[in-house]
Amino acid sequence: MLNIVNKLIENKSIEKDEMIYLLKNRDISIDKILADKASEIRNNNFGNKIYIRGLIEFTNYCKNGCYYCGINKSNKNAQRYRLTKQEILECCKQGYSFGFRSFVLQGGEDNFYSDRDIEDLVYSIKEKYDDCAVTLSIGEKSYESYLAYFNAGADRYLLRHETADPNHYKMLHPKDMSLENRKKCLYNLKEIGYQTGCGFMVGSPYQSFENIAEDIEFIKELKPHMIGIGPFISHKDTIFSEFKNGSAELTLFLLSILRIMMPRVLLPATTALATLDPMGREKGILAGANVLMPNLSPVSVRKKYSLYDNKICTSDEAAECNMCLRNRVKSIGCEIVEQRGDYSEE
Ligand code: SAM
Repeated sequence: MLNIVNKLIENKSIEKDEMIYLLKNRDISIDKILADKASEIRNNNFGNKIYIRGLIEFTNYCKNGCYYCGINKSNKNAQRYRLTKQEILECCKQGYSFGFRSFVLQGGEDNFYSDRDIEDLVYSIKEKYDDCAVTLSIGEKSYESYLAYFNAGADRYLLRHETADPNHYKMLHPKDMSLENRKKCLYNLKEIGYQTGCGFMVGSPYQSFENIAEDIEFIKELKPHMIGIGPFISHKDTIFSEFKNGSAELTLFLLSILRIMMPRVLLPATTALATLDPMGREKGILAGANVLMPNLSPVSVRKKYSLYDNKICTSDEAAECNMCLRNRVKSIGCEIVEQRGDYSEE
């Protein structure tokens, strides 16, 4: 076991079968060795800086039927909403005053917004806040659409691949969705020049250690600039309501693996992780994460963007969240910085 750990630390990579062995046999002492190493690498690359991205969940309408997701189109109990351009700009204004220099526009796949609408939104944010980065996370689109948003000023795009195993993908999604298209989108985004993020849920229904090892193989191949991983958390109104939640510990272990493999990658400690463990953000950073994505959506809609049950921070005002987060980060010797936090090779 320790020889695999040492190989990972020295070569920044191990083979797929070694990863499966590690996943099957890890224990607290291995997790600790990896977290300490990952934390050291984070520190060597970013100092004690933690980047923040203001998440604006601007629509919960979605044309897709992902089985795990609380805002999937079949959930008749979801209270649907859309934010207006004015409301979105108001979120940015507030975020900017708190020191955010990076905004993420996330939503269901909602065709109500035309490409022109998205371009206009991106352009308007960049016009007002030209020192800020804009990230889109609005799902699978054509090459032309991605290019149009990029030309309007979008800097980054988050599109989790969800699982790199085609059979597992089919177990999580309806027939009209495919891993092939998801991957194609990711390669298109990279080609266009976006800082691109992929990722997956840890402990999603039917996920095996082999699947996770395959996710890591895909990440090695894609070489993304950002990786979003968080535990699967069941949602009461989905067909996966009876499945058990993913594990916070396994998520932390994987954060460490990813940091060791990709020292410069932008790696968030996600809200899902903090939902399962009240200290998830701190533990995530101590396991190698260097990004936090607090919610900037208006409090009136936060509960409605319900991807999974018991999501945290849905009733806190943005100012409260901001203070809380800064104190949490300080408590572990790190500091939130007022920077875009772009990906760079060094
Ligand atoms: N529609 C866009 C897309 O498909 O990329 C962005 C929004 S989507 C809701 C954002 C992410 O939420 C998904 O990529 C998925 O990994 C995560 N998510 C959805 N349901 C979840 C659940 N039950 N537990 C944990 N994460 C979940």
